Amino acid sequence: MTQVEVKSPMAEKRDYYEVLGVERNADVDAIKKAYRVLAMKYHPDRNPGNAEAEAKFKEAAEAYEVLSDGEKRKKYDTFGHAGAQGGTRFQSTDDIFSAFGDIFGDSSIFEQFFGGGRGGGERRRGRRGSSLKVVIELDFNDPLQVQTRTVQFKRHERCTTCAGSGAKKGTSPTACSQCGGAGQVVMNQGFFSVRTTCPVCKGQGQIIRDPCGTCGGSGFEKVSREVEIKIPAGVEDGMTLRVAGEGEPGDPGEENGDLLAEIHVHPHAIFKRREADVAIQLPVGFAQAALGDKVEVPTPRGTASLKIPAGTQPYTVLRMRGEGFPVINGRGNGDMLVEVLVEVPRKLTNEQKELLKKYAQTEEQNPSDARKNFWDRVKGVFNT
Ligand SMILES: [Zn+2]
Ligand SMILES: [Zn+2]
Repeated sequence: MTQVEVKSPMAEKRDYYEVLGVERNADVDAIKKAYRVLAMKYHPDRNPGNAEAEAKFKEAAEAYEVLSDGEKRKKYDTFGHAGAQGGTRFQSTDDIFSAFGDIFGDSSIFEQFFGGGRGGGERRRGRRGSSLKVVIELDFNDPLQVQTRTVQFKRHERCTTCAGSGAKKGTSPTACSQCGGAGQVVMNQGFFSVRTTCPVCKGQGQIIRDPCGTCGGSGFEKVSREVEIKIPAGVEDGMTLRVAGEGEPGDPGEENGDLLAEIHVHPHAIFKRREADVAIQLPVGFAQAALGDKVEVPTPRGTASLKIPAGTQPYTVLRMRGEGFPVINGRGNGDMLVEVLVEVPRKLTNEQKELLKKYAQTEEQNPSDARKNFWDRVKGVFNT
């Protein structure tokens, strides 16, 4: 569970340099770079419904607004938060795009993460819908085959009562008189004119006098949706599948967001997954390892026969080709890796004791090279 930090409005403001993670003598480029990284990270499109990320996104914008402006920065350096009149407490993320959208300029990363065309100086364009997240639980063996799952979730859709206008039946929205329907107003601050979201219509460009009873004027209602998702064979725990266009609706003319399905694969009592490979620990007797054997071992698909070569050493890993999981978006299967655990018996019957004693005598007469070399070296150490 993620804990969302709840901050009161009176909470102490963090130092702007600390917010951006830059040195106090950082130059404008470094500040810009730092802000860009944070804006990408906490961007609302990438953190749908995450209030903490939104707060961080706004905090970074506020810090950037002050530190990127020579005058404001000087005041802030001298008087701290009390001296900087600059710090705008941004009300909405759209205000931030209006003010700083151009920091992302023409870079392709901007296009990729921000859905394109949200330039600060440009006429405001619509926003792509935000993404929605669902979780799909799978059993350990499910990824052996392609799976189909139906997920249920809620998303906003155009209100059927008012056809998305937000206005009560028989009425229609009127153009906002403050901004003339543009959704943005230009405010003059000293030498600068800053374009911001119209405070009267909140960027909508229109005012609804009689709101629709079903959606309360938003034009959207929350509806339950079911989507069937095909899960490729070989998926791993923690992977995310993207179903394009099944997320929240975008602004008119803009694409819907995506549905992101996070895969949770339940662990198994004896198998472990490592990408397409699967690993298992197999306990074998000491005689079995010495003499060699053929055993049936469990595999994700059932059982298979494994040859333990004579003289197998403890922790040897034997590879069973093709007994692992399908390679995702690839060909063939991974392998099964069998780690051999050689057991030394803890309890012996009298008969076993007799047999082992006899065995030990033969061993004394015929010690292994490794043991001989070891004792030769020990002698070498003590005789010098
Ligand atoms: Zn307006
Ligand atoms: Zn409605």
